[in-house]
Amino acid sequence: MRRVTIVGASIAGVSAAQALRERGFTGEIELLDSDPALPYDRPPLSKQVLSGEWREERVLLRPRSWFDDHRIALHLGTHVQGLDLGRRVLRCADGSQRSFEGLVIATGSVARELPMPVERPERVHRLRTAADARRLRAELVPGRHLVIVGAGFIGLEVAAVARAAGLRVTVVETAATPMQRVLGPTVGRWFHDLHQSHGVAVWCGVSIESITYDGERDTVQCAGDVRLEADLVLAAVGAAPACDWLEGSGLRLGDGVVCEPDLCAGAPDVVVAGDAARWENPLFDRSMRVEHWTNAVEQANHAVGTLLGSAEPYRAVPYFWSDQYDAKVRFVGLAAGHDEVAVDAPRPGSFLALFGARGRLQGALCVNLPRRLAQYRDAIDTGMSWEEAMDSLHTRPTRTTSQSA
Ligand SMILES: Cc1cc2nc3c(=O)[nH]c(=O)nc-3n(C[C@H](O)[C@H](O)[C@H](O)COP(=O)(O)OP(=O)(O)OC[C@H]3O[C@@H](n4cnc5c(N)ncnc54)[C@H](O)[C@@H]3O)c2cc1C
Repeated sequence: MRRVTIVGASIAGVSAAQALRERGFTGEIELLDSDPALPYDRPPLSKQVLSGEWREERVLLRPRSWFDDHRIALHLGTHVQGLDLGRRVLRCADGSQRSFEGLVIATGSVARELPMPVERPERVHRLRTAADARRLRAELVPGRHLVIVGAGFIGLEVAAVARAAGLRVTVVETAATPMQRVLGPTVGRWFHDLHQSHGVAVWCGVSIESITYDGERDTVQCAGDVRLEADLVLAAVGAAPACDWLEGSGLRLGDGVVCEPDLCAGAPDVVVAGDAARWENPLFDRSMRVEHWTNAVEQANHAVGTLLGSAEPYRAVPYFWSDQYDAKVRFVGLAAGHDEVAVDAPRPGSFLALFGARGRLQGALCVNLPRRLAQYRDAIDTGMSWEEAMDSLHTRPTRTTSQSA
């Protein structure tokens, strides 16, 4: 193989380029991205960049010179519209075509659209790109009322930053608790209390019917004739894989690119990494798509190995972090499909939740407990039983049985 083309120059794409060079690939590497900005990191956008603690330059993944030094050709502002596997060609939005030999698909995900009618959609903020963060930050003016639609991680991180900036914040969520889709109701209640104790109005179990604009303020019309007047609205209703450009290509799509266990996309010399990849994780015996930073780095490394000839299955304990107020939230494993939850609060300000399924430990949420995280990561990797996990707790946990998606 003399040339590898990588579509998507975010953390998965840049990590793939680096892994190619580290593994001794000497051919051409092309890195394409629709975003005209030099590749940057997304996690700080809802934390240090939004709060103003970090200048934007600090989130660059690599300086421009790094790409030159590693002979990686950056094609920024290049949107890829289609893939022709037969001719091994990428079709770009500017009408050009680019041929490839090896292909890494690293197009990640995009912010989901709000499902209800919105009179002035351009007024509603989202937070996926550096430009989004810049625009939102400019509007975080003390005393304003921010309404956040969706109580997932990004919505809650923005709520924490906006409170610290002196805004009035209301979070509206259709589920009964924040984070319920990912972590279930027991942990969701903990997040509810955390935000409420910092002065956020957390409205759960509320559906929004429309968002209108009267020329001065937005009105968020909720079911039951409840209205919220907002100075600004953030839509934080999750992300969807950015795979539209692959429709009709012959690759298998289904909430992401459905890969083989080694991250091959099902066509010769085409691999996938990051938020866009769906694969069968042998550790949990289930198909998953993971929207976390560490997964993007690790999958990129693995996918490059596959491109260069290895056929190892990708097996991983997912990991993510989130910072909200002084809570350092860290999660390893999987919460989806759990049938047991045990909660433990070993000291004030810290919190631990273990998730079990079919008699095994499968996930652990640690708040301000960094050492416990590594312990549970290894335990999930080696298949610790639920009973052993219970024995590992310092105090008698509050144990509930619940079922999540
Ligand atoms: C605000 C925010 C905060 C986050 N915080 C955390 C956190 O605290 N912890 C954590 O673990 N994870 C966090 N994440 C998630 C993490 O950033 C993602 O999992 C990670 O960015 C995924 O990397 P990726 O390279 O797969 O995709 P992405 O980062 O989504 O990048 C995909 C790239 O592909 C480009 N692209 C898409 N389609 C095309 C196309 N057709 N043609 C050309 N280019 C294309 C896009 O412009 C983009 O640059 C956060 C995400 C956001 C948005």
